[in-house]
Amino acid sequence: MKHFIRLYRGVEHKVLGSKEDTHVCTKCKIKFNQQNFHIASAKVDRKTQKIYKRLKRKCKFCENPLRSVRQNLEKDKNTPPKTNHCQHCGRKDTSIVLHHNHKTVKFGRWSCVNCNSRYPFDTFEEHMEDARRWYKI
Ligand SMILES: [Zn+2]
Ligand SMILES: [Zn+2]
Repeated sequence: MKHFIRLYRGVEHKVLGSKEDTHVCTKCKIKFNQQNFHIASAKVDRKTQKIYKRLKRKCKFCENPLRSVRQNLEKDKNTPPKTNHCQHCGRKDTSIVLHHNHKTVKFGRWSCVNCNSRYPFDTFEEHMEDARRWYKI
C-alpha cells in the first residue's frame, strides 16, 4: 500500500498516502499539507498484515488551538524562562502554566492554573471592559 513514514514520539508510523498530500480540514476548511494532521486510527492490510495509519480529518490547529499556541510560545526565545511561582499570586505549590493573551497571542506571565482561568485578560483596562458587559454599564 502506498504510504510514507512519519516519526512520532520516537516511533515510526506508516501513514497512508504520500508526503506531498494535502487535505482540507473538516472544521476550518483550509487546505494543509498532511503534516498538519495528527495520526488517527490504524488500518491493517489483510494481505500483508501490516499496520497503516490514517490521518485525522481536523487539522492540528483546530484540534487543540490553545495547546499549539502555548507550545509555540514556550519555545519562543522572547518568552522569559519559566518561574517556580505564580507571577499573579506568588503560589509555589501548584503547577505553573503559560498565561497568554488570547487576542494578541502574546506571552502574558507565568501563572498558576487558578489565576490562569481567573484572569483571562492582560491589562486592567481589558478586564474592566469585560466587567462592563456583566454590569451592562
Ligand atoms: Zn482546521
Ligand atoms: Zn496564581
